[in-house]
Amino acid sequence: MSTILKLDNVHKSYGKTEIIKGISFEVNQGEIYGFLGANGAGKTTTIRMITGLIKPTKGNIYIDGYDIQKQFVKAISSVGCIVENPDMYGDFTGRENLNIFAKLYGNVEKKRIEEVIEIIGLKERIDDKVKKYSLGMKQRLGLGQALLPKPKLLILDEPTNGLDPIGIVDFRKIVKDLVEEYKTAVFVSSHILAEIEQLCSRVAFIDKGEIRSVEDTKNLKYKNIESISLKVKEKDKAIEVLRQSDFVKNIAEKEELLLLTCEKDCFSMLINVLTIKGIEILDIARIHQNLEERFMEIAGGGN
Ligand code: ATP
Repeated sequence: MSTILKLDNVHKSYGKTEIIKGISFEVNQGEIYGFLGANGAGKTTTIRMITGLIKPTKGNIYIDGYDIQKQFVKAISSVGCIVENPDMYGDFTGRENLNIFAKLYGNVEKKRIEEVIEIIGLKERIDDKVKKYSLGMKQRLGLGQALLPKPKLLILDEPTNGLDPIGIVDFRKIVKDLVEEYKTAVFVSSHILAEIEQLCSRVAFIDKGEIRSVEDTKNLKYKNIESISLKVKEKDKAIEVLRQSDFVKNIAEKEELLLLTCEKDCFSMLINVLTIKGIEILDIARIHQNLEERFMEIAGGGN
């Protein structure tokens, strides 16, 4: 599979502050590549550099082999991009909006517009005014607009922000089908781990302007680990017992709680071990960690 997007040691500074600190990665044809990081990690800045809106302070970005700075027109002609809540003309129909964008692109055939309407699944509503569309439909129309010039690289910046669960599922399916059928390379940014996990085959974790790790989503390290919060009557005794249990990987204390990092599906084992030793459990719950905590685990930054 050929490389469609390549970042080579890209830096970006504003004044003396370095926001992006030398990132490198490659996205291949037919791949959905996730770009995951907490708010402020540097995702939007990176996307703005990829799309040529701002210049890197150092380093190079290639799209389909063309340097975005030196060969801008050739490089950008392979890119379709949608950012959060794309702008549309509300008083025009979906089809009229696509016609307008097709004219802006210049060389889009009528047949392609019909094809795109098919891909985004808006055939039934395409002649309704956009102001009557749900956010999910607007998002799909935005995707359609990005697809008009048959891009080799599709960039999605936080694409499901604000969508309802059905909208998210629909959107995800369209993107997956697209990659399956046209082998488009997709670069998708998000701060939601579950989102990336369900859509992408690989994911780069960005934190404070640095790529901490790139992993295949099917074997993300954290998958076999879960976190549990535990409240017991005799905390010290429980710690002693848990230290001797193989499935407990880490024990932290937070006020009266014990926060455990355990092997997945150890819940009943944990209860058994404590009960056998006569330790009374006052409260026990799985913790749904936020991205930052997960990230700490994955990147080993929690040390
Ligand atoms: P979010 O999900 O909140 O958009 P992000 O990962 O996209 O976060 P960026 O918008 O790329 O993050 O911002 C990264 C850092 O760079 C932030 O600390 C932000 O304040 C800073 N930053 C972004 N643009 C500028 C600018 N023009 N001047 C100075 N600092 C900036």
